[in-house]
Amino acid sequence: MNIVNYINGELAEPVSGNYLPNYNPATGAVYGQVADSDASDVEKAFVAAKSAQKAWEITPAEEKFKVLNRIAELIDERREQFALAESNDQGKPLWLARNEMIRAAQNFRFFATAAMQFASESHSMEGRAINYTLRQAVGVVGCISPWNLPLYLFSWKIAPALAAGNAVIAKPSEFTPATALLLSEVCIQAGLPKGVLNIVHGLGPKVGQALIEHPRIKAISFTGGTATGKVIAATAGPMFKKLSLELGGKNPNIIFEDADIEKAIKTSVNTSFMNQGEICLCGSRLLIHESIYETVKNRLIEEVKKLKVGNPLDESTRIGAIVSEQHYKKVLSYIEIAKNEGGVILTGGNALHPEGFENGWYIEPTIIEGLNMSCRTNLEEIFGPVITIMPFKNDEEALAIANGTEYGLAATVWTNNLTRAHKFAADLEFGIVWVNCWLLRDLRTPFGGVKSSGVGREGGWDAMKFFTEPKNVCIALS
Ligand code: NAD
Repeated sequence: MNIVNYINGELAEPVSGNYLPNYNPATGAVYGQVADSDASDVEKAFVAAKSAQKAWEITPAEEKFKVLNRIAELIDERREQFALAESNDQGKPLWLARNEMIRAAQNFRFFATAAMQFASESHSMEGRAINYTLRQAVGVVGCISPWNLPLYLFSWKIAPALAAGNAVIAKPSEFTPATALLLSEVCIQAGLPKGVLNIVHGLGPKVGQALIEHPRIKAISFTGGTATGKVIAATAGPMFKKLSLELGGKNPNIIFEDADIEKAIKTSVNTSFMNQGEICLCGSRLLIHESIYETVKNRLIEEVKKLKVGNPLDESTRIGAIVSEQHYKKVLSYIEIAKNEGGVILTGGNALHPEGFENGWYIEPTIIEGLNMSCRTNLEEIFGPVITIMPFKNDEEALAIANGTEYGLAATVWTNNLTRAHKFAADLEFGIVWVNCWLLRDLRTPFGGVKSSGVGREGGWDAMKFFTEPKNVCIALS
């Protein structure tokens, strides 16, 4: 399969004619190639975007709604094809990819309606004047996304950027480009005007960096690692671009003695290992009150041992392959670091070579105990099927451990004590707090992290505000 760019409403070879290999993590084999684009492709995309943007901005909201909604419908109609492409590219179980395709379509549907509903403020000065805020599209914006939830996160940025009247140049991860190509096809099919969305493929430090450095691209919405976020901020900051950075995490999952323990354990299996632990919102540090520590630990090990690891296309598989060889090696290296730090592996801890998939990149779901809060294993993002578990004595200790990393993306709290739930919600230094649930998402809510987990919020009106520039207009009335 040849994955090419989408520029000015057409599929386009990269200007250089160069391609990169595209791997299937389940088998470790190359199964296609992806455009190795560079600054000249970004320039082509920019010219197309710039000439399309104004007409798109003044397109009536209902027309924007219709075409964005049509994209959602077409993703739904082609769900199986999209899901298979995502699973082959990313290594995630096919059933999970199907769920994510539903959510990607929902992103387009949600922001299609946002285009119809978005409104602005006015401030009256008691008969002397009236102020109103014009929210105008930023212009041409860049959207860059990672490999873990490829189409879901890609659409999470593209849909609001388009709904707000911008023209977009988007770059998916070079590890997972397949569904972005299908999205290009869908946009053509849906009749999205030429140049309104352009997709460039290729390496982050090359085509991604060219996107960031382009002087006339006014805003960048980026989701990815914290180290990359720093490079992007260092480049875009002095150019005074609008930046939204959704970065890494090291999320705590806290179980108190008064919680519904069985529900907490069952959900924590997902919190820890869904999508091979490759979700920025996964809980990688499980904190358990000391009075229930042994019970929770043993039940968790029992449940995790049942998880089937292997062929992502097998409907009974719970954990698929790690996205790339490089990431697989990184995750395995963290298991070694944990052992060297004195960690005890309670279950898992090894690479797996399932029959028929010997060259794929599989790692057993791994639970580690015996580590303190300030070792590398507990401070650094591993982003794989590896968690640590730690006992705590009281609320103060739980809070100190939870807040004790540089990250602040999401925290989960399991308790039936209302006061404790509210207190933790207020005191946890995270952008998102779930109480007695995990990954329950309302697309209207602000999404993002604090500390090294990012800057800014996306979702709902926050995304529409990010992708518009507010201008105050003051009209004298006397
Ligand atoms: P990454 O930072 O390596 O890459 C993300 C994207 O940035 C890719 O498209 C990549 O090609 C591009 N890129 C790399 N260098 C670039 C540069 N210099 N200029 C412009 N673009 C560049 O991240 P990844 O490994 O793909 O994804 C995993 C990371 O993403 C994890 O840290 C995870 O926590 C994070 N993540 C965060 C969220 C969130 O919402 N906060 C969601 C998902 C993933």
